[in-house]
Amino acid sequence: MEKWQGWRKIHYESELDSEFSGEIASIPGGDQLFNCIQCGTCSGMCPLSPYMDYTPRQIIAMIRAGMRGEVLSCYTTWLCASCYSCTVECPKEIRLTDIMYAAKRLAIRGKVYPTRFPIPVLAREFFKSVEKTGRSNEGRVLLRLYLKTNPFKMLSQAALGMKLMLRGRFSLKQEQIDHRDDLHRIMKSLEKEHMIKGKDELTGVREVVR
Ligand code: SF4
Ligand code: SF4
Repeated sequence: MEKWQGWRKIHYESELDSEFSGEIASIPGGDQLFNCIQCGTCSGMCPLSPYMDYTPRQIIAMIRAGMRGEVLSCYTTWLCASCYSCTVECPKEIRLTDIMYAAKRLAIRGKVYPTRFPIPVLAREFFKSVEKTGRSNEGRVLLRLYLKTNPFKMLSQAALGMKLMLRGRFSLKQEQIDHRDDLHRIMKSLEKEHMIKGKDELTGVREVVR
């Protein structure tokens, strides 16, 4: 039985963003998304698709249609576990996992992602911890995750946290690496390499879109 996805909304062409697919296509290999034949293999392979608000196949169709708002604010990209099953099985060799990441990056850039949903919060706190110290401290990341999403849940987990702490399985002590400047330099250079082109930089990609 088909999942309930809310009331269907008619989209008029004037509401669609013709630049959106080009922005996603500007990542390395992203232009492959225009070869999608909508076979649905990716959705069939995806272990998380039953929980997603739009299936991976729908995400590709929506990007091509220019449905920027729906794609960037949906839960699907955040539920993607980067297992690469879709990418491996796609008959057109579309790197759907990378496309999911590109959509996430645009959502973060535009601040339109579901901010209170635990997965983006976890990703953000993990990244901040590694960027700042070179190490991830699961105790601190978890603490921030609960504080920013569901502080009451933290109270219900307090006894378990204390037990784990007493047994040395859980700690709030933050470690940090030496030479953190080198780490920041590496991260900056990676950022440039995976940068998604903005609307003003899309001249080359527009040719592909056409
Ligand atoms: S498996 Fe590939 S070609 Fe088929 S719908 Fe998914 S992305 Fe498109
Ligand atoms: S990489 Fe993401 S979208 Fe692809 S099959 Fe895995 S969870 Fe699903």
